[in-house]
Amino acid sequence: MTATLIDGKAFAARLRERLAKEVAAMKARDITPGLAVVLVGEDPASQVYVRSKGKQTREIGMNSFEHRLPADTPETALLELVASLNADPAVNGILVQLPLPAHMDEAAVINAIDPDKDVDGFHILNVGRLATGQKAMVPCTPLGCLMLLRDQLGSLSGKRAVVIGRSNIVGKPMAQLLLRDSATVTIAHSRTTDLPDLCRQADIVIAAVGRAHFVKGDWLKPGATVIDVGINRTEDGLVGDVDFAAASQVAGAITPVPGGVGPMTIACLLANTLTATARSNGLPDPEGLTP
Ligand code: NAD
Repeated sequence: MTATLIDGKAFAARLRERLAKEVAAMKARDITPGLAVVLVGEDPASQVYVRSKGKQTREIGMNSFEHRLPADTPETALLELVASLNADPAVNGILVQLPLPAHMDEAAVINAIDPDKDVDGFHILNVGRLATGQKAMVPCTPLGCLMLLRDQLGSLSGKRAVVIGRSNIVGKPMAQLLLRDSATVTIAHSRTTDLPDLCRQADIVIAAVGRAHFVKGDWLKPGATVIDVGINRTEDGLVGDVDFAAASQVAGAITPVPGGVGPMTIACLLANTLTATARSNGLPDPEGLTP
């Protein structure tokens, strides 16, 4: 392997240590950041995510409020819970775990969250704020990728970036963040032609596709920085969207799966909760946690 390994696990651990210190400083001013996580139904993957979100929230000294509702909860009851969390001054961040059961309108639920408490950054106002360069809450996974990229490359200005995937939770906000940092951004998706050629021109490749080993080593420009967002369960265990063995012979730097982007997502959720707490208390944004 010739590429530098981008160690997201270690970066996320350092970030959580820093957040714990900032939480302690806030507590000294009688402010305890609080994150409310709402889980509807018993989706096994969601249960794992919610458990680790609660655990990591408590570990850095924040209050964690968990709300578990049965799968057949009417949407009106969920909207009432969201309204009560919006009104609760002890709650600075609200996250409704997705996916929601099929009878619920996800967009309606997300857009019922107070945008200033929307620590997932999925509220339509935060999407618009990010796109127009205003202060926003930024989706956690792309925010984590941005932190890793800045740490690895310093300035992203003028770099050619290809984002593979156009989802609302990863691809699109990732492209917005790169654009905000003055990269030249191409968004590729399932209908893109000549994807290998596009990637070969890129200084930065972000893979958010959901297909194991999709990005090949010979698609990469030598020295490129590769961020692998994919999480794919295979017979060989958890793998990313990039053929890591081949890509790491060509890339300049690359994230592993697991241990790359994954651990950054919850760390950035905690960072967003701290940012939301600072803003709601009239304090300046903590440095380096927002784009
Ligand atoms: P998604 O299914 O919503 O989007 C996948 C995107 O890939 C689509 O926009 C689609 O156009 C594109 N795509 C599909 N086939 C393609 C092809 N042949 N060529 C080019 N593009 C193609 O997925 P998502 O929610 O954006 O997640 C993407 C991956 O990232 C998944 O593996 C998911 O598990 C993972 N993920 C990881 C984290 C994390 O914390 N690390 C967070 C969110 C998602």
